[in-house]
Amino acid sequence: MANRRTFLESAALGAAALTLSQRVAAAARDRAPLRVVSTWDFGIAANRAAWAVLSAGGSALDAVEAGARIPEADLNNHSVGRAGYPDRDGHVSLDASIMNGDGRCGAVAALEHIAHPVSVARRVMEKTPHVLLVGAGALQFALEQGFSSEELLTPESEQAWKEWRKSAQYQPVINAETRSYEKPGGPANHDTIGMLARDRQGRLAGACTTSGLAWKLRGRVGDSPIVGAGLYVDDEVGAATSTGVGEEVIRNAGSFLVVELMRQGRSPQDACREAVRRIARRNPKSAKEIQVGFLALNRDGEAGAWALQKGFSYAVCDAHKQDALLPAPSLY
Ligand code: ASP
Repeated sequence: MANRRTFLESAALGAAALTLSQRVAAAARDRAPLRVVSTWDFGIAANRAAWAVLSAGGSALDAVEAGARIPEADLNNHSVGRAGYPDRDGHVSLDASIMNGDGRCGAVAALEHIAHPVSVARRVMEKTPHVLLVGAGALQFALEQGFSSEELLTPESEQAWKEWRKSAQYQPVINAETRSYEKPGGPANHDTIGMLARDRQGRLAGACTTSGLAWKLRGRVGDSPIVGAGLYVDDEVGAATSTGVGEEVIRNAGSFLVVELMRQGRSPQDACREAVRRIARRNPKSAKEIQVGFLALNRDGEAGAWALQKGFSYAVCDAHKQDALLPAPSLY
């Protein structure tokens, strides 16, 4: 009898302990925030679309795809998707990547005529054994997947390109928000949306999509579709993305570097600062003339950013802040 009572008592205690540990785990999950962050002011509208997915219990992957599609569709945004500024020869060519925290990723580069390269990148990830499709092959794949072909060059973007041709003697330029005539979104400037999200299960994902540098050479590919350069995500550590002169980001494997610095214990902001410093150290002269910005989110949902020049901002959306836009600290 005594044994039976002891057994019943310890079973009841065990059940209570289990319930308690389950409660502690659930509370920890709840405390770690659902959050989405993205580059530039147009990230605010994109974050809202991503937040609708996250707050309904959706995955970080679905959230970043839904978010990135907003600026891709926006005709007033000349640096992403439809209405993006064309290359030197007048062709709109788009770069995008998407990555899940478990290491799955997909990307497209120099893709023409398809308004939502981020969704094509996701199909590359999910429907092919490959990571990156480019140019004519990427277009063929998109059409086979049912995406429709359209003219992405709008009359406004074409006009801006014609104006540029008058003054630029057909020379591609590198962007910089430091020059007063090259405000973000201005004709000589270029910005990318990089978006990072953490969902209710603590999973991370990121997306990055752009029309690349305005007036670039035909065939030029930037950092955005290069996994490890414009985007990198690892559920064990965190996620990072970049904007600015893609050539510098590729040279330094920028987003991978930021994630690896976080793995070594740095905060997201500190990791972004170190990656920016690395670019400046390697090329001090050109670093003063160009813009590069990194944005990071760690697995606990903490966000941070850093840029070479003033002017880089990032949008944050979580349960407390819906439309926040924060200025990133800068080296110069
Ligand atoms: N990083 C993009 C590229 O180099 C452009 C930008 O973000 O301004 O294609």
